[in-house]
Amino acid sequence: MALTNYLLMKDIEQKLKNEAKALLEQGKVDYIIGFEPGSLKFTTTPLITRDKNDVDRLVINSFIVNNLANFLTELKGRVGIVAKGCDSRSIVSLIQDNKVARENVVILGVPCTGIINLSKIERLAGKDRDELDNISREGDKVVVTVDGKTSEFPITGVLFDNCLGCELPTPQEYDLLLGEPTLPVTDETVSQAKIDQLRGLTLKQRWDFWENEFSRCIRCYACRNICPACFCERCFVEETEPQWVMPVPRWQDNLVFQVIRNIHVAGRCTDCGECERTCPVNIPLRSLTKEMYDVVGELFHFKAGMDKESLPLMTHYEQEEAEDLIR
Ligand code: SF4
Ligand code: SF4
Ligand code: SF4
Repeated sequence: MALTNYLLMKDIEQKLKNEAKALLEQGKVDYIIGFEPGSLKFTTTPLITRDKNDVDRLVINSFIVNNLANFLTELKGRVGIVAKGCDSRSIVSLIQDNKVARENVVILGVPCTGIINLSKIERLAGKDRDELDNISREGDKVVVTVDGKTSEFPITGVLFDNCLGCELPTPQEYDLLLGEPTLPVTDETVSQAKIDQLRGLTLKQRWDFWENEFSRCIRCYACRNICPACFCERCFVEETEPQWVMPVPRWQDNLVFQVIRNIHVAGRCTDCGECERTCPVNIPLRSLTKEMYDVVGELFHFKAGMDKESLPLMTHYEQEEAEDLIR
């Protein structure tokens, strides 16, 4: 089974390299965006290149965590882009918002089996990532090797929380699918645990929870900058007339920043989990974004990035809308 997983990933990786090289050689794209090995163990980093000789550095593995759609609005020309299920929905969402033209992207779809959260492995193994010799995916288990000894953990214990709630791991929109469609590896209990815990609190307890969390926010804006749904050229937090929030990170302003950001990404957020992953002080931002994702689904029957022909959620209304203001 281990060999099968490894070979499947290697097969997808080789197909990707061949296709990326052909796209650049034939002048069908100006750039390729994918992943290459990171400088730290068990990491990858985005690779953006115009050079066909760079494509041999491309990798596909269980650590291709970034949502690469975020780079599309920064590049001019035609782009070949590696996309997992959630990334492809972010690309479609950008197409719906006219931020990206469909004819300018070649989507190289990767059927996703979930991304491994190294912090969870560190906790389970009781070791720092530098002390781990190997991590391999074997079906529904992950095998971690330290000093020649192996330990097995269920895959549901080591994937990112958002991956465990993933509805569509196989890209819905693509030009080339690099492997067979995959089924999601889900564990709703784990995926929803932090959110359900908050739902169980009183309003006062929730308020105290978020006051405590946002007191730690340093307003680095990593959560905004990594998010493909946050694409305003000038963010409201940088406005001075009117000034919506103070530039210094007071918890009240930090909370306002996140509340408004959540409303801005409503109907665009694909639960890719990147904002929470990138927060340097580990604020559980997905407890806000996933809640908004579910509210959008329940109230508007809308899921981000599902249909490039449909209008974005916030730009159309129905005659039956409850709000007179909109009619
Ligand atoms: S949310 Fe789904 S498609 Fe996205 S990385 Fe996780 S498993 Fe893959
Ligand atoms: S990434 Fe975290 S610390 Fe930085 S602005 Fe966002 S919530 Fe605050
Ligand atoms: S708000 Fe967070 S989870 Fe949603 S699309 Fe942006 S980075 Fe991804």
